[in-house]
Amino acid sequence: MPQETLKKIGKCINKTQCTNADSEKEIEIIFGDEFVCPECGNDLIETALPSTKIPLWMKITIAVIIVFGLGVCGYFLFNGGGNVTPADKIIIE
Ligand SMILES: [Zn+2]
Repeated sequence: MPQETLKKIGKCINKTQCTNADSEKEIEIIFGDEFVCPECGNDLIETALPSTKIPLWMKITIAVIIVFGLGVCGYFLFNGGGNVTPADKIIIE
C-alpha cells in the first residue's frame, strides 16, 4: 500500500431499477472519478463517511468524564460541608 486512496461513499437512489439502490449498498468512489452508480449510472447521494460518526468508545468516554466530574463535585460538596460545620461549631462553642 504506497498511499491511502481518497474515497467518497455514496448511495444509489434508483430504487426498483438498481440492486445497489434496493440493498442500500454503500458504494465507494475513488476521489476524482465520476460520482455515479457503477451499475445503473445514476448520480449517487453522498453519505457520511463511517469515520465521521461518533464512535461508541468516545460516547462512553464522554459519559465517564461527566459522571466522574459530577462525582468529584458531589464528593467535595459533601465532605466540605460535613467538615466545615462541626469545626465552626467547635470554634463558636
Ligand atoms: Zn444504481
